Amino acid sequence: MSLSTTSARVSARDKWQSIKRGFMGRCPNCNEGKLFSAYLKVNDVCPKCGEEFFHHRADDAPPYFTILVVGHIIGGSMLYVEEVNDNLPIWIHMAIWPALTVILCLTLLPRFKGALIGYQWALGMHGFLDAALARP
Ligand SMILES: [Zn+2]
Repeated sequence: MSLSTTSARVSARDKWQSIKRGFMGRCPNCNEGKLFSAYLKVNDVCPKCGEEFFHHRADDAPPYFTILVVGHIIGGSMLYVEEVNDNLPIWIHMAIWPALTVILCLTLLPRFKGALIGYQWALGMHGFLDAALARP
């Protein structure tokens, strides 16, 4: 297959669909195989379709997006609760906000990582394009 044909095939990948599939921890190519073998450990290849995942370079972006989103949710919620009920005892604040922060971070971190890998796959970044070139 020629470079331009493969590049066209890669550029035709639906970016939002790939992001959604990655967000759900699924293979951005087939949506059947699991993206992760453990909490944040990415499979080298899709167990179903054989798409290579080891090209991803998620690096620090997933924690960055997690902190950005969770910080805004928790910060805004704290201000809202304080505004609505300023007589709430401090021990309730100390019980709710740290626990909610940890739960949200642990929930969103692998999802943002999967979404980022799906986006990189859709764009053919970091060797995903080369992998598509090498495939028949
Ligand atoms: Zn797959």
